[in-house]
Parts: sequence; C-alpha cells; structure tokens
Amino acid sequence: MKPRPLSPSSLKLYMQCPWQYFLRYEKGVRAPATEAMLVGQLFHAACERLVTDPEAYERGAVDFVQLTDNFTKYSRPIADKAEEMFVSFVPTLKQFLSEREIVGIEKDVTLVGEINEDGSARFTCMLPNDATRWLRMQSKAGKTNVVGIRGIFDLVVIDDAGVVEVVDYKTGQWTQNYQELKKDWQAKIYAIIAAELYGDYVITYHYIQGTPVSLSLSPSELNEARLALLSWYRRIVEDEFPAKETGWWCKFCPIYTDCKHGVCQRGLDFTA
Ligand code: SF4
Repeated sequence: MKPRPLSPSSLKLYMQCPWQYFLRYEKGVRAPATEAMLVGQLFHAACERLVTDPEAYERGAVDFVQLTDNFTKYSRPIADKAEEMFVSFVPTLKQFLSEREIVGIEKDVTLVGEINEDGSARFTCMLPNDATRWLRMQSKAGKTNVVGIRGIFDLVVIDDAGVVEVVDYKTGQWTQNYQELKKDWQAKIYAIIAAELYGDYVITYHYIQGTPVSLSLSPSELNEARLALLSWYRRIVEDEFPAKETGWWCKFCPIYTDCKHGVCQRGLDFTA
C-alpha cells in the first residue's frame, strides 16, 4: 500500500481491523459520521472561537444556530447537544487559558524521519503532501526504517515555566486514568511529535465529562513508542491487511453486514 503519514485515527483503525483500514484508506470506503462525532466537531469549532476570543460566548458571538447553518451537515438537536456541552465547559476553558499563553490552535503537524534500532530518531517537519511524496521515494529506495506521523492538536499553550502543553478535548463519555493514557496511541503519537517540536512538553486530555489527565513520556518510553510505531507502519506498507476477529468496532464499519471475510455475518448482536 502506498506509504502515507500515520495519524492517531488511522493507526487506531489499523489496530482495530487492518481490513477496515485498507477499505478506508485505499478504497475510500468511509462509515458515516455518528451523532457523537458531529456533536464533537461542533464543540471543537466553538472552543476554537472561544480560544481566540475569550468573551465571545458572553457576547453571543459563539452562536450554535449560526454554526449549524454554516456547516449544513449538523441538525438543530446536534447543535443543542454541542451547546449544552460547551456551556458547561466554558468556565474551565477560560480559567485554563487565563493561566497560559496560546502557542497554536488546531495545529496540524506532520513529521517524517528515520528511526534507529535503539528507537532514537531524526524527524523533519513537512507539509502532508510533501511527506507522502518523501515516504514513497524512501519506500521505492527500499528504506525500511522511515516513518511518517501526523497529528492535529486542538490547542497548544505554554505555561510560566516554559513547558508546552498539547491539549486534546474529549467529548465522549469514556475517560482514562494516567496508566490508561500511557497506553493510548493518540497520546503516544502526540508525545513523539511534541518531544520533537518542543522538548519540554506535556499532553493533556481534557475530558468534558471528567477530570483532565496529563502525561509526558520518558526518553526510554519515547524510544519504545517510536519502535512500536515503526513496526505498525511497516505492516501497513507491506500490505498486511487481515480482517480481525469481530469486536465493537465492527458496529461502526461501513461493510459490517457484507464483510467479505465472513467474520461479521455470524448473527452478532450489535445492540449490546
Ligand atoms: S466488519 Fe468487522 S471484521 Fe469485517 S472489515 Fe469491518 S471491522 Fe473488520
């Protein structure tokens, strides 16, 4: 398969079911967005406005009806849910911003580089299309220790001590504790990128329905994460796309009623 930078969502999909990854990224078969995803998208758009203009909500400048009109795929009930969630988060976000300086919003970063046998790496920042071209050239040249990663940070801030904090808003109902976050591949990809870009960093998941959790990885944990990332990446580039045994992810798969691998046609109950 053509090499392309791995994002947290593409890696997560590959880990869940390589065949679904293949359908999504090689054949363009996408599952329709769920209501939770649409609510999350509107919520993120509203937060972006508030970050650039902290009094925007009080002035009525974060208007969910207008947001809904501008983004036609969102219905009023979805806008209402997003607004309810956003309103409960405004004080927390304003307090958080008052103590930090903003470095970037919706920051889209793509890194490509070579990973050594000990997990150390040399990465370069590139535009996504250039990164894809670079990766293809390396692949044609038979380089097997190259990898590309891409992350879109919701918010990047810096505190008084000069530590950069990469923030991700989590609008779902699930939360994770510190130990769980350390196993989370989105957090690991963000940590690899943030360590490369900023040196001192912390990754924070702001759970809308829970307490924020932060982490930064030690040098050896970063090395371990880079090597694991390279290994996942090689499997994709070497066309390893077996369908995995069924799991909850099949419920969101666009082909689950017609999975060629048969594993999803065995009378599974997706309502549980
Ligand atoms: S239905 Fe399940 S097993 Fe089949 S491709 Fe989709 S996620 Fe994979």
